[in-house]
Amino acid sequence: ALQLNNIHKNFGSLEVLKGVSLTAYDGDVISILGSSGSGKSTLLRCINLLENPSQGEVFLGNEALLLKPNKSGDLVAANQRQLEQFRSKMGFVFQNFNLWPHRTILQNIIEGPTQVLKIAKDQAISEAEVLLKRVGLLDKKDAYPENLSGGQRQRIAIARALAMKPQVLLFDEPTSALDPELVNEVLAVMKSLAEEGRTMLIVTHEMRFARDVSSQVVFLHEGRIEEIGTPEQVFDNPKSARVKDFMASHQ
Ligand code: ATP
Ligand code: MG
Repeated sequence: ALQLNNIHKNFGSLEVLKGVSLTAYDGDVISILGSSGSGKSTLLRCINLLENPSQGEVFLGNEALLLKPNKSGDLVAANQRQLEQFRSKMGFVFQNFNLWPHRTILQNIIEGPTQVLKIAKDQAISEAEVLLKRVGLLDKKDAYPENLSGGQRQRIAIARALAMKPQVLLFDEPTSALDPELVNEVLAVMKSLAEEGRTMLIVTHEMRFARDVSSQVVFLHEGRIEEIGTPEQVFDNPKSARVKDFMASHQ
């Protein structure tokens, strides 16, 4: 399980997260919805300290991420090696697929497994090929990122995350930079991951997808959880008028 306790984040005097607590049990697929600026990306980034939370706790399994305050009052890793271990257990897929441009697709995928997990190169290659096959791109293994479509690149980014055998997968609007006709091929891969019982946190504006794959849906508003529940509860029967309005305008 991935557990977040009372996460706060301030940027100067701006309070972006105001105490978010959330648990993703093994196999949970949690979609995070909310208006622009509600703190969705900041929340995901606080989980692996791409952003330093101002307050709060993060647990992966039963292990707490060790944190200590810095001069500006935010929390930073108390143990860099533990942070790196934590990060290697979390697969992060961003809006803008940040593949290394000067490496082939195969090299992009085996980098983490060989460098961080210390897996032998030939083993890493054969595992990468299985993943490339899974995302339908084995024939692109020797290509460079610039020669792939956005949807293909995002599927490679997912394969690269999977190559690290992560305990949880975190997605931040993985399809929102894509041309509409490329969105579905990425969502299909994500859906297959959800169906095989992966633990996933997904920030998305794809409402139909969120309803379809999620075990829980979270609606974030101004840095707080406004509503959380099953897709049926949150989409069809929201308690909050704000959520109701959001759903009505995002049909
Ligand atoms: P979107 O749907 O547009 O991606 P979001 O819900 O992901 O929005 P965040 O990116 O988490 O929102 O931003 C939440 C708030 O925090 C916004 O007001 C944003 O301007 C502010 N913010 C984010 N990062 C920083 C930063 N590095 N410095 C200052 N303010 C920031
Ligand atoms: Mg965002």
